[in-house]
Amino acid sequence: MSSDCLFCRLYAEGEHVRKADGFVAVKDINPRAETHLLVIPERHVETFRDVDEFPGDEAKRMLEFVADTAREVGLEDYRVVVNVGPGGGQTIFHLHWHILGGQMRGLPG
Ligand code: 5GP
Ligand code: ZN
Repeated sequence: MSSDCLFCRLYAEGEHVRKADGFVAVKDINPRAETHLLVIPERHVETFRDVDEFPGDEAKRMLEFVADTAREVGLEDYRVVVNVGPGGGQTIFHLHWHILGGQMRGLPG
């Protein structure tokens, strides 16, 4: 855990919609869709480019957590977005997944 990382702090002490197995889901503070959740892993990896820093089983569980979270909040059709690097709209450098469902208002980031 890095105390100067917002998402490490959110993982540790945020308001979680769902939590399991080293992953949490939180509501995005600036929602770009009717439902806009962020899935945040406990492991601090700066960007999706470095996804190989996750052990294989953990990477699989992370994807399952994204799918299960969407299902649990009642979404069948939705978007999963990962912004990669500043040019890709990434503003927080702790890997996270956006889940966007319902009416959308542009892309996150
Ligand atoms: P990025 O642009 O890095 O892909 O996504 C960062 C997201 O984090 C943005 O959609 C932004 O609205 C959200 N965000 C920024 N600060 C906070 C916060 O303190 N709490 C929550 N829940 N979301 C945040
Ligand atoms: Zn972090």
